[in-house]
Amino acid sequence: MIYADYNGSAPLSKEVRDYLVKRFETGPFANPNAIHYLGTKTLMGMENARAVCAKVLGADYDQVVFNSGATEGISSVFHTILSNEHNKKWIIISGIEHSAIVNTAQYYGTRGFTVKCLPTLSNGIVDIATLQNWVNDNTSQIAMVAVMAANNETGIIQPFLEINSICQKNNIPYLCDTTQFIGKTPFSFKQSNIDYAVCSGHKLGAMTGTGILLAKNPETLLPLIIGGGQEKGRRGGTQNYLGNETMAVALTAIEKNFANISALGEKRKEFEQKIKKSFPQVVIIGEDSPRLATTTYISYPGIHGQAVQIELESLDIFVTTSSACSDNMPVTSKVLLAMGTKDDVGRGVVRISLCLNSPLSYYDDLAEALSKAYLKLAKVKSF
Ligand code: PLP
Repeated sequence: MIYADYNGSAPLSKEVRDYLVKRFETGPFANPNAIHYLGTKTLMGMENARAVCAKVLGADYDQVVFNSGATEGISSVFHTILSNEHNKKWIIISGIEHSAIVNTAQYYGTRGFTVKCLPTLSNGIVDIATLQNWVNDNTSQIAMVAVMAANNETGIIQPFLEINSICQKNNIPYLCDTTQFIGKTPFSFKQSNIDYAVCSGHKLGAMTGTGILLAKNPETLLPLIIGGGQEKGRRGGTQNYLGNETMAVALTAIEKNFANISALGEKRKEFEQKIKKSFPQVVIIGEDSPRLATTTYISYPGIHGQAVQIELESLDIFVTTSSACSDNMPVTSKVLLAMGTKDDVGRGVVRISLCLNSPLSYYDDLAEALSKAYLKLAKVKSF
């Protein structure tokens, strides 16, 4: 079996599974906010996990706020920035953002804000020249900017450091959706100097329902969930201490795998070239753009992506056609539309997303399986 949907969700990593087996045996299991011995011990375990996460993510200990995942982190940041914003009306996002950003921005769009969507160039990269122009002409109007670090469908890496620098120079709060970037390439929150970044544990091999919001100035966060003042009043509710511990274990394991990035990137290139040589009509989305080493978004125009996905599944290989969320429809995705991708290419895509410790041989197996699928399906082209 080859699981090639890591951008959708990662299975629990081996290190996390091993950790949990032991952890279930030894405990402690108590409310980390309780003052008795077991509570304090549980708290110490969780705070140690926070320190480990902070170290791997290049953040201060206090900048790590545990939550349920990227969607919650994104909502918290919008809530923090916009709740008391009465003068600045613009929310700038891009056309390739995940629905967790788009729908949250649109929600605030129904509450007096104006959502401005940055264009995307045909190489899949957000047009920062337009951002610069908008900022030059309308600085006093802009409440926040939210542009992602790496795209979930294409794996294309965005110029988020440049975007951050434009925002910093103009005192505009910047939320960078780092959900796909963290864990797939090294990231230092403090070095990036970004105001807010988010991630989800289930993309990293940690338990699902976990996540981290990184905030440059955590004391300014407004809690989305008020509750009993946990997480220093920044996120109410008894913490998912077990889950948070798995975040530390997963991130530590991932850090060791960063050494595999260049070999994976090379092997992926070889795989893509091999397929293109056999099937010259095949398109690799964002082929010449900087991309995550683990993602290939590939299309055979005229062959439906879902047909390819089913063929691969019959060979025990699991890929997706676009993102796994509610917008998984058999039409050209909004990300591809934003890049100006034609429909015959857009409807043909499958996303192959591995992790940093996937065996390189997977790419040989994928090349063989994909070739078989294309050869078979080309005879009965679907559109
Ligand atoms: N942002 C990006 C780029 C994503 O890929 C995802 C999930 O696919 C999210 C946000 C939302 O993450 P979650 O559903 O774990 O909250």
